[in-house]
Amino acid sequence: MPTTFGCSGGKSSFIGNGQCGWVVGFGVELDLPSDLTNREKAAPALAQALAGCFVGPPIPSPIVGGRRTGLQKLRVFNAQSYAATRNEVGEHSGVSQLSPYIRHGCLTLPEAKAHVVSQLGVAHSVKWIQELAWRQFWQLLYTRDGEKIYDNYEEPKVPLGCQSALPDDIAAAQTGLRCMDLPLEQLYTTGYLHNHARMWVASYLIHHRKLDWRVGARLFHTFLLDGDPASNTLSWQWIASTFSSKPYIFNRENVERFSRERDSGETLCTGCPAAQAKSCPFEGSYEALERRLFGSTQPRERRRR
Ligand SMILES: Cc1cc2nc3c(=O)[nH]c(=O)nc-3n(C[C@H](O)[C@H](O)[C@H](O)COP(=O)(O)OP(=O)(O)OC[C@H]3O[C@@H](n4cnc5c(N)ncnc54)[C@H](O)[C@@H]3O)c2cc1C
Repeated sequence: MPTTFGCSGGKSSFIGNGQCGWVVGFGVELDLPSDLTNREKAAPALAQALAGCFVGPPIPSPIVGGRRTGLQKLRVFNAQSYAATRNEVGEHSGVSQLSPYIRHGCLTLPEAKAHVVSQLGVAHSVKWIQELAWRQFWQLLYTRDGEKIYDNYEEPKVPLGCQSALPDDIAAAQTGLRCMDLPLEQLYTTGYLHNHARMWVASYLIHHRKLDWRVGARLFHTFLLDGDPASNTLSWQWIASTFSSKPYIFNRENVERFSRERDSGETLCTGCPAAQAKSCPFEGSYEALERRLFGSTQPRERRRR
């Protein structure tokens, strides 16, 4: 069965079963060897075939593709603790990490939902089903509106920047902010990023660095193994406030709370040069941040999805 290459232009993260010809997201069809039976053989063959499509060493993502692996992950996923832990970024996060499999059709939304409901019943599965529904919602909008998703859906609720070049420190994951650099590094090397970390990075790029949201969206789409036009583009619009009633921003307290490791008590702020130099751009109340970023405060509402 032909497989869509999991990384549409990224530098070093890719998945695959290496068993057949691959179609790459550059509009280029490649005739790849069909006798590769494992990842060890597939990696160098793919690296050679895709030379010029990535930079840096051709290190395969640790994420293994395919339906069999997707089903195994679904079976061990514990949806019971999902609602309580899904916003935690770190080893205790209860997220499923099934998005690459869902994105590439290795698992369908109905079977993912049915599996969890059969184990826990509807009442304990609600939060997870809601997240599956977000995916479906974005897909329906994309089906209806097509390429229009790349234009602002609504007028932004705050002034947005229009910087169109990706800054070097972002491309190198060297902003000097640990809560940006570690997630960016993870994105570049594995092709996966936790939802909350995606929100932090997107908010930083749009509202602090004043990048056009499309630049950030392109960066994510390039590296994410679950990179999806609808989920990605519309999530970036949600953060920007062109598809929501207000921009998404976060403060340092939010990062510390949701990145705290239970054993060590360490957070993404532990050892951060900016925190030590007292130059953390996320320090302060939401009101203070809003004034600093937008010159005014926003109506009080739920900030996290
Ligand atoms: C800036 C930004 C960019 C994003 N880009 C993508 C993308 O390109 N592709 C993508 O699949 N998701 C994207 N998301 C949504 C979400 O971050 C990922 O789906 C989720 O992190 C995948 O991890 P998981 O499988 O562990 O999710 P879980 O929390 O276990 O959720 C189960 C499934 O529900 C779906 N889902 C969960 N949250 C969302 C959401 N907020 N929106 C849409 N679907 C969701 C996914 O298919 C996911 O696999 C983006 C979010 C943000 C904030």
